[in-house]
Amino acid sequence: MYAHERFSATREDARYLLQTISVLGATGSVGVNVLNVIARHPERYKVFALTGFSQLEHLKKQCLLHRPDYAVVPTPEAVKVLQQQLIDAGSLTQVVGGESGLKFVASHRDVDTVVAAIVGAAGLNATLAAVESGKKILLANKEALVMSGALFMQAVRTSGAVLLPIDSEHNAIFQCLPSHSRQGLTSAGVRRIMLTGSGGPFRQTPMDQLQDVTPDQACAHPKWSMGRKISVDSATLMNKGLELIEACWLFDAKPSQVEVVIHPQSVIHSLVDYVDGSMLAQLGNPDMRTPISHALAWPQRIDSGVEPLDLFKVARLNFEVPDETRFPCLALARQVANAGGTAPALLNAANEVAVQAFLANQIGFTQIADCIRHVLDNEPVGQVRDLYGVMEADANARRWGKRWLRENHL
Ligand code: NDP
Ligand code: MG
Repeated sequence: MYAHERFSATREDARYLLQTISVLGATGSVGVNVLNVIARHPERYKVFALTGFSQLEHLKKQCLLHRPDYAVVPTPEAVKVLQQQLIDAGSLTQVVGGESGLKFVASHRDVDTVVAAIVGAAGLNATLAAVESGKKILLANKEALVMSGALFMQAVRTSGAVLLPIDSEHNAIFQCLPSHSRQGLTSAGVRRIMLTGSGGPFRQTPMDQLQDVTPDQACAHPKWSMGRKISVDSATLMNKGLELIEACWLFDAKPSQVEVVIHPQSVIHSLVDYVDGSMLAQLGNPDMRTPISHALAWPQRIDSGVEPLDLFKVARLNFEVPDETRFPCLALARQVANAGGTAPALLNAANEVAVQAFLANQIGFTQIADCIRHVLDNEPVGQVRDLYGVMEADANARRWGKRWLRENHL
């Protein structure tokens, strides 16, 4: 999966002379961190394309600063507006539009590396286009992998794409696994993968207050600054559930081999437990620039701008078992991980519908899990045969989710 062989020293040295990069989701939290790291190493990285969705002014500023060959926006109208603004500012960046624009910059032959940092199912097709073109992919968009894991990983194997996780937990696990883990976790002597999570902003909130928490409270994560959707996922612990499924696909693990550990300090980003009693962990300040830099430069190391971890300041590390009564989304995610087939795609779509409704103040925080449960209870799980089947499952789940919203609240 991680083509260590492909990255033999000579080829890799040549490749690192100047890596050209498309950043899908450049205007988001991950995208901004990626551009921060890239700007520190102009001799190594050249921006080929930047994509945005609603924040066109932000994308324009990024284009003027990083001078990509292409920018991608969602609609023909947005193409016209941004193109004219860039021309007026003397920029040579060409603006393209829509899903075809995203696929174009994800698969272009001049691109070495694609950062997949669009949020949600919207990132699936462009990320798959990058995979099918055999690119080096820095994967943040976990929803794409959760939805289509079997097809996604098959496409990685067929195309020879190099898949590097920048989700901090999976990047930590990748750093703690030996290169021969590709032959299977068991033969590498791995007993368990341990995914850490801070527990989010409501770890200690009295249960009877959870139904009244607001979107802004849910998005005020104690340790990480992130986009609103993943912040809500972190508050419900669905993020840890999606990450459990992500870990199963990335590291060819069974759900029973992945354990979730609440670690409020967010200093250990995950661990690998070996049969000889060794447990390897990756530590660092909670800053996405570390996993991003690791994956960008891998197998080398570069400066990320992240402050070194001060162990004396951290002083202590705590660990707790996750409370699945408080956080039912984690149990739902484990349930779909075990069910397989289209179940994770159903969960993901239902979660996107519910989180969007919560962020729009249409439902309460605890109803996110109710909505997802309703979808899983009603839409049967099928086998994943092709992308069409995944998209159909996604659409059906969204229909059930929206029907639940209508019947209960809207
Ligand atoms: P943000 O909401 O901050 O950014 C999302 C990006 O996707 C923005 O560039 C946004 O454009 C773009 N976008 C949104 N909707 C669409 C769409 N329909 N079509 C095309 N582009 C779209 O999210 P994050 O950066 O926080 O997260 C991105 C991904 O990375 C998620 O999958 C998340 O789970 C994952 N991740 C994030 C981490 C973090 O620290 N933030 C950590 C680990 C994983 P615009 O802003 O212009 O509307
Ligand atoms: Mg994570």
